[in-house]
Amino acid sequence: MKGPESLFNLVDELKKLPGVGRKTAERLAFHILKSQRNEAEALVRAIMGVKDKVKLCSICSSITETDPCNICSDPNREKNTLCVVEEPHDVFAIEKTREYKGS
Ligand SMILES: [Zn+2]
Repeated sequence: MKGPESLFNLVDELKKLPGVGRKTAERLAFHILKSQRNEAEALVRAIMGVKDKVKLCSICSSITETDPCNICSDPNREKNTLCVVEEPHDVFAIEKTREYKGS
């Protein structure tokens, strides 16, 4: 199949994402190709934003943009109760419940 190399490059990069096969990668690539330039730029900025700004909290190793994270720096949190999670994103599921008041 012949076509623009830049489009194939985009498909190749998208295929590396978890759960994205060739068909989905092609659909996403064509969507990006047809989208407005500012939408494509917003996607690039969002990707680079997490690479440049998100780091691990030096106290709890949770993903955060501020170190210590807003949970560790919250004086209203109970410091003697600790919740251990397997993956950083598990913290967001627990925080969404607004039930847990520990660290
Ligand atoms: Zn923390």
